[in-house]
Amino acid sequence: MTIKDRLTREIEARRDDLVTLTQDLIRIPTRNPPGENYREICDYLDRRLSRADFHTELIRAEGAIGDSDRHPRWNIVARREGARPGACVHFNSHIDVVEVGHGWTTEPFGGEVRDGRIYGRGACDMKGGLAASIIAAEAFVATCPDFAGAIEISGTADEESGGFGGVAYLAEKGWFNPERVQHVIIPEPLNKDRICLGHRGVWWAEIETLGEIAHGSMPFLGDCAVRHMGAVIDAMEQNLFPALAQKRTNMPVVPEGARQSTLNINSIHGGAPEQAADYTGLPSPCVPDRCRMVIDRRFLIEEDIGVVEAEIRELLETLRAGRPGFDYDIRELHRVLPSMTEKDAPVVGAVARGVAQVFGREADYVVSPGTYDQKHIDRIGRLKNCIAYGPGILDLAHKPDEYVGIEDMVQSAQVMGLALHDLLGG
Ligand SMILES: [Zn+2]
Repeated sequence: MTIKDRLTREIEARRDDLVTLTQDLIRIPTRNPPGENYREICDYLDRRLSRADFHTELIRAEGAIGDSDRHPRWNIVARREGARPGACVHFNSHIDVVEVGHGWTTEPFGGEVRDGRIYGRGACDMKGGLAASIIAAEAFVATCPDFAGAIEISGTADEESGGFGGVAYLAEKGWFNPERVQHVIIPEPLNKDRICLGHRGVWWAEIETLGEIAHGSMPFLGDCAVRHMGAVIDAMEQNLFPALAQKRTNMPVVPEGARQSTLNINSIHGGAPEQAADYTGLPSPCVPDRCRMVIDRRFLIEEDIGVVEAEIRELLETLRAGRPGFDYDIRELHRVLPSMTEKDAPVVGAVARGVAQVFGREADYVVSPGTYDQKHIDRIGRLKNCIAYGPGILDLAHKPDEYVGIEDMVQSAQVMGLALHDLLGG
């Protein structure tokens, strides 16, 4: 039997351990916001990985956005040294999960196993991936104890809210410096036979139209900010949305619909604030003098962020020039540049060979419509050799009855184990 066969068998033999580990992780509810139980899950991972001879460090992102004494942003980095010098392969998983929402038929933090699946919030995004990477690393160390280099496993906070108290903080502190880490795999749920090379860019802004308050029975004495915002939306419908639909990318984004530029109107608020549910009176008659809209623009690697911004500003300036009384403010909320790792990067090749061996066919290469922590590893850490690869179906993320398939996790762990063997030998 070859060493690779022994390794995949060793991972298969740890199937029950993989299930229990995933259930344990789901049962620690790490909802974000507000960012609960980060310390608890880091302590759990600390105990687990210390037993496997990893050297662990718990790092609190003190002073980062979101960090407070009530909800401290804890992270863990665990490192297992090999028998001789070599590269370091780092698996990074976020430990936070999004809110539960409605419509569940299973206990969201129960980790129920049914029909070969584990259910729970975070099962696919991404505690299943974290568990698979731990099993892969432990089985690899047991099978190939004389490997070169090092393996790191991190559990990081706040990916769902931008990653500032997690990967961004660690990258700023040098944890993703290319001199100490050479290959990064993020086990996000991109499906077991697909390699995610990167993501589209993001530009969020808040647009505010300005009017003048007056009595609602005499709207001509005021200036309605909501009508001005209506003109903004109309201009978007007439000009911007059709223009965005024409911009196509060569990035292999999935789903296919995201292979063009997109714009979402995230929220719109105008006029008097909504009253509390127990308020039984009528609203007062006023002309709204402010209307605010948050837009979420996703752009392609072929687009320049300056142009993305200018399109919106020009649309607003055209209205200011042509529409009586139109005035506005605009404020940028968030920006992330697109990121894409080259297909011939070493970590891509190693995982692709693992996929080919486990599934007997070539891996698919994809790009994510939304961003994930790769942005911080790329921009702050300046580490380009980074991909997302992990079990779970992306479409299930953040939905009710989220689950991860047990067989998918085992096979993904085998791909990760083979990639370790490919990169670190032994
Ligand atoms: Zn995720």
